[in-house]
Amino acid sequence: MPDAALCSPTMPKKTNSTPIQIVMAKVRPVWIERVGLELARGMEVRTDFQEQLGRFFDLVNQSVTTVDPAWMDAILLDWAKSSTETDLDQGLYQVSFLINHIIALTIQVAREKLTKQEALDFLAAVIPIYTYGLGVVSRYEMETRVAHISNEMAKVQKKMERVDKSKSAFISVAAHELKTPITLIEGYSAMMHDMIQENKGANLQSLLAGMTTGVGRLRSIVDDMIDVSMIDNNLLQLNFQPMQVNQMIEALSLEVEDALRTRHLTMVRKDFHGSKDWIYLDPTRIQQALANIINNAIKYTPDGGTITIYGRTLPGFIEVTVEDTGIGISAENQTSIFDKFGQLGRVELHSSGKTKFKGGGPGLGLPIAKGILEAHGGSLWVESPGHDETACPGSTFHMLIPARTEAPDPNMAKLFDALGKNKS
Ligand code: ADP
Repeated sequence: MPDAALCSPTMPKKTNSTPIQIVMAKVRPVWIERVGLELARGMEVRTDFQEQLGRFFDLVNQSVTTVDPAWMDAILLDWAKSSTETDLDQGLYQVSFLINHIIALTIQVAREKLTKQEALDFLAAVIPIYTYGLGVVSRYEMETRVAHISNEMAKVQKKMERVDKSKSAFISVAAHELKTPITLIEGYSAMMHDMIQENKGANLQSLLAGMTTGVGRLRSIVDDMIDVSMIDNNLLQLNFQPMQVNQMIEALSLEVEDALRTRHLTMVRKDFHGSKDWIYLDPTRIQQALANIINNAIKYTPDGGTITIYGRTLPGFIEVTVEDTGIGISAENQTSIFDKFGQLGRVELHSSGKTKFKGGGPGLGLPIAKGILEAHGGSLWVESPGHDETACPGSTFHMLIPARTEAPDPNMAKLFDALGKNKS
């Protein structure tokens, strides 16, 4: 049997629709209040926010009246542009979300405050405008996000190009640096070979000394490379022990005595408050950092110059300062010298271009020193009026060493107590 309801559908009752303008005017104040309260999520609704909502509602009204949703464009784009960089970074589509929320609230308001017919007429008029708005905002947000991602990708690509460039520059300088001691060793071993053949064994001693120098140089370059890779990968293990800063400075002064004499340089060591305090640090590593700085001061200071080491105590730190009367460092290089291989582009500084008092290495000394200090929780920086090989304005390196009076490892505390030294 055919379904009676289907065969003879009851015709909907004719109802009197209210003109849409009257419905819109009726809804407006309730809509602004409800949407404002909901979007403010329990916080006070600011007057300017209410004004914005009023403007939005009036533009919806205008769009309905003129059957042209383009009236919404300006306000929607204004809102969409207010999304922050962080929103975009995190892929938060704030304004699309907002419009969706407004749609849901509009339906609620219509159901609660209007007659059924009014609600149907009202929603039939405004929902297409909202849908249009959602489209405008989503497109804008998508385009902005794509632009943001492309921008980020361009940055990454630039970084990778730099890494690639510095990698090949590193290979060329490393090869150059390694070649010098290898040539030295080859030369001495060829001479030894000849001497052995000619039975002149007596002079072998000096040749062996030359070879040892070459091997030593090779070892220090390779050690530096290993240190840099450990620092880069956070693998630097610190062996904390109690130590006095002045002891390290003294030990290093003895080590560089010969170099100072050969180069007619004077080293002035000023005692300072805190230099005799026993503090916990990795003496080998901190000494290595200090040695890199002092050796640079020797390398980049012309004959007859002065290197002064002094310091001071700061809250929680001991600062050691190494000041020289050398060629100085330009403002632009004062940061890049701490980047590994930061000086690679300056081929004139490498072995072949050495002058009497300057000469670059692979450019690892300062990055290693900085890495060591940072691993301790300290820092390293330089001050210099600029680079001038004639006027020699000098450079001042500051090492900030944390003054740990507590052993990071409890077993160390016993050793500290056993030493019976003062902690302050
Ligand atoms: P390297 O000496 O092997 O090149 P470093 O990392 O020790 O590498 O130093 C990086 C660069 O910083 C040097 O090449 C030099 O240009 C500059 N520099 C370091 N110390 C000094 C200094 N005391 N005076 C002038 N320039 C310096």
